Amino acid sequence: MRVAVVGGGIIGLAIGRELLRRNADVTVYDPAPAGTGGAWHVAAGMLAPGGESAFEFPFLEPLLAASNELWPAFADELGDVGYDDAGTLSVALTADDLAEARREWAHQKLTTLTGSQARDLEPALSPRVRAGAFAPTERQVDPRKVVAALRRALNGRIVRRNISNLSEMEGRVIVAAGCGTATLTGLPIRLVKGQILRLRGEPGLLKHVVDGAADGRHVYLVPRADGEVVVGATQEERSDRAITAGGVHDLLRAALDLVPGLSEHEIAEWTVGHRPGTPDNAPIIGALNDRVIVAAGHHRNGVLLAPITARLVADLVLTGAADPLIDAFTPGRFGCA
Ligand SMILES: Cc1cc2nc3c(=O)[nH]c(=O)nc-3n(C[C@H](O)[C@H](O)[C@H](O)COP(=O)(O)OP(=O)(O)OC[C@H]3O[C@@H](n4cnc5c(N)ncnc54)[C@H](O)[C@@H]3O)c2cc1C
Repeated sequence: MRVAVVGGGIIGLAIGRELLRRNADVTVYDPAPAGTGGAWHVAAGMLAPGGESAFEFPFLEPLLAASNELWPAFADELGDVGYDDAGTLSVALTADDLAEARREWAHQKLTTLTGSQARDLEPALSPRVRAGAFAPTERQVDPRKVVAALRRALNGRIVRRNISNLSEMEGRVIVAAGCGTATLTGLPIRLVKGQILRLRGEPGLLKHVVDGAADGRHVYLVPRADGEVVVGATQEERSDRAITAGGVHDLLRAALDLVPGLSEHEIAEWTVGHRPGTPDNAPIIGALNDRVIVAAGHHRNGVLLAPITARLVADLVLTGAADPLIDAFTPGRFGCA
């Protein structure tokens, strides 16, 4: 079967690879296949089914959990993608931070650790950290390595082209163009700006992903094996690409309050990306019409959700069967199918 995938970000490429594995004749279209415009390029790569979204959006939980289960095998097949399953240590600096964090930790059924227990796990934490909780099933990958590996798997099947009208395309079409999906389909996908920093220093300062709040400023710190520490991210209902003094200040202030040793790190990169958000902040996965399937709007969890999205969309295209898991995520919930 011939299938065109519009969008060569992490979702489009994961779908393309899955279709290829199942012997479909697939082509992925993207105006800048190796470019830096997609959200994947800035994403931290946390695979955090509990911490990232489940509290606010409980109906997402089964989808997040299902994708989290697929990640170990997915990463293994792709090769070195920076997969690390050391877990996430969530921490709180002040009494107010702790009061807020306790609700999340209770929801995730995590045991609260004292400040010193948290420092036993992560000695670089500030002595001011009051409490923490450890989420052992959370993981991380490097999305840039994931996309590079997916591109290699699709060698010769990625075409540099901007698709401006779906009627240009023949046969089955999958629209996985992130924020670009709105213009192509009319679906309500908005841009949610995220500023994010990459610091560089001696490897080994942090052993886990650290996620926390310091005086009401939220931050996550994602340590890579090579000494990079990703510090993210702002969440702003804006579509511009400005790096702002306030955004950088808040991220660095919270990062250094929680892990003072980061002050010796070099600022290697500051970037902005846009999460594709929907009105309910859950992805859109399903048929738009007889010919077009949409897989977009993955907002804060597109890296985590890539393997399950690929599997569900491939099932839909090749067998016509919609897994009940996607019932809650169809375009029809916005009156668009
Ligand atoms: C700051 C930040 C941090 C994040 N951290 C995490 C995280 O830790 N964990 C996590 O799971 N998620 C994270 N995310 C979210 C994640 O990056 C996105 O959900 C994910 O990248 C969405 O994937 P996508 O392929 O749909 O879109 P994108 O990655 O944005 O890719 C879309 C692609 O479509 C192409 N395209 C657009 N229009 C067209 C067109 N007309 N024709 C052809 N091609 C087109 C673009 O060129 C691009 O390559 C983060 C996002 C941001 C901004």
